[in-house]
Amino acid sequence: MGNDRSIRCFLCRCHGEISRVIDLDEVARALKSHPGVRSLDVRNSLCLEEDMDVLASRVEDPDATGLVLGACSLYARGDRIRTALEEKGISPDTVEVVDIREGCSWIHHGQPREATTKAIDLLRMGVALQRHRENPDEVMVDPVREVFVLGAGPAGISAAASLVRLGVRVHLLDRAKSPGGLLNLVKRIAPEDVTSDEYLSQKQQTIFASNGGVSHYPGAKLISAHGSAGDFTISFSSGKTEHAIRVGAVIVATGAKILMPDGLYRHGNLEGVLTGIELERRFKAGQLEGNRVVFIQCVGVRDRKRPYCSAICCIVSLKQACQVLDVDPQAEVFVLHRDIMCPGSVLEKYYRDAMARGVRFLRYEQDRPPVVLGDENVDSVEVYDALTSEMRRIKADLVVLSTPLAPHDDAGRIAELFGLNRDEHGFYEVRTLMHPLETKREGVFVCGSARWPVLGRSAVLQGEAAAMKAYELISRGTLAASRLSTYRERKFSLARVDHEACTGCGNCVAVCPYDACSLEKKEGALKSTVNLIRCSGCGSCVSVCPNGSIQLPGHSAMAIGEMLKAVCEQGS
Ligand code: SF4
Ligand code: SF4
Ligand code: SF4
Repeated sequence: MGNDRSIRCFLCRCHGEISRVIDLDEVARALKSHPGVRSLDVRNSLCLEEDMDVLASRVEDPDATGLVLGACSLYARGDRIRTALEEKGISPDTVEVVDIREGCSWIHHGQPREATTKAIDLLRMGVALQRHRENPDEVMVDPVREVFVLGAGPAGISAAASLVRLGVRVHLLDRAKSPGGLLNLVKRIAPEDVTSDEYLSQKQQTIFASNGGVSHYPGAKLISAHGSAGDFTISFSSGKTEHAIRVGAVIVATGAKILMPDGLYRHGNLEGVLTGIELERRFKAGQLEGNRVVFIQCVGVRDRKRPYCSAICCIVSLKQACQVLDVDPQAEVFVLHRDIMCPGSVLEKYYRDAMARGVRFLRYEQDRPPVVLGDENVDSVEVYDALTSEMRRIKADLVVLSTPLAPHDDAGRIAELFGLNRDEHGFYEVRTLMHPLETKREGVFVCGSARWPVLGRSAVLQGEAAAMKAYELISRGTLAASRLSTYRERKFSLARVDHEACTGCGNCVAVCPYDACSLEKKEGALKSTVNLIRCSGCGSCVSVCPNGSIQLPGHSAMAIGEMLKAVCEQGS
């Protein structure tokens, strides 16, 4: 059962971008005779106001008329055209934008015949879909204008500071007693080269001078999280008090932990073998003893157990190597590495500066790691130099182990509470590469080293970006669930269950990647229920339902069948 709207088609020349490749006259001839097509116009530029007025004027009855536009893709101007038409009173559900530019005239620019054929097929399918598309179910959401930020490290406090500046009330919860996260452990921040104290005090001033804009809960423990984008309820304990708050969006900025070497390279039983953070403490306390320092890179990482590159430890060691030379310009500093990772001109400069200042670099092989020698104190490091194929023995007062960032021990629990996925290494997964802050749970954003190890500067930028995403979600007032997404495109199909037909088998619940399906008792029997705010319209549930009782109204089985018929039966 579809709407069987009568269709008005418009083809866009895009000032020649489309018409110089695609024969629009031929497309028009093919479509005019297509079932359901009532009229067809070719225009110069459908995204300009003038042409949009013409489009709107042809829709006498918005419920009975569908528009099919052959133009650019939704990602270019297509979605904007639809939004502009919505402002003129035309529902986006009645507007089909068919990409005949990026997907046809651009990629097939050397094959005009084939591009024309493809455009005809795509437009016929668009007409069939628009004729038989059912309007999706809608639920309206009025987002709570408050945001929960979990973690007060560089990403979290930057997110909080950005939101406060926009007048948003923020709940900032942290497991630590004071804000700053790992920045509290370092003396200077790379690559800005400012002291961490200066940096933190700037951010804290913004947040805590905000006249009550931020409720900060240090040393707090998360208890539960429920709800969906626009309206989450979160409970946690802070001191002896339990709190329950309602927020419209969540920013997970829990950071990562520094891996301890667990006896590697004799850390813990030989005086003078330190981690990078232990060296930072000595810098902070002004207690650097010894001027022969050997850094060993990739400790406990890039191996079978942790095969990833932690991305930041090379730059941290280079920064520290230079700090050793700041303290004692005569110091002898070696960096034993497998590779040096410092991409980009700013970070590369650290490498060049370190070399120019006399830091010596020596490459070791994974299966022949350096050996730290000494009785009670470090004496030297023996290493096979992969470049010269020689064994070297380097005298040392201090050996600094460069260990990676790894997910916090409670990362799994937090993932469960907020419905997040984790990657193979345990960091939180983002939804897609094109949406690097969004998670699979609409309204929950992730930033900083919780998603992948980053330097403070990147954590800050990601925190600010996550704040903008959260702001976008909560600041638009009441809106339909299909509009909630912070992606550009509107969600077109949200799943709908026919409760009479549903047998409660649970297949849809098992496959739904967004935790949008659940089984609930209805009149004594278990039936699938869809949370329209969480549903992304992916269609996974449709493909596993044994009796077709869950469908995407915007792309029902019937509409898809009609689309296939439109190309198979007609030919081109
Ligand atoms: S950043 Fe450097 S030290 Fe850290 S894992 Fe990667 S290569 Fe090894
Ligand atoms: S369409 Fe996708 S997100 Fe929506 S209920 Fe079905 S499986 Fe879940
Ligand atoms: S898969 Fe179909 S029948 Fe099974 S619970 Fe989901 S909607 Fe009901």
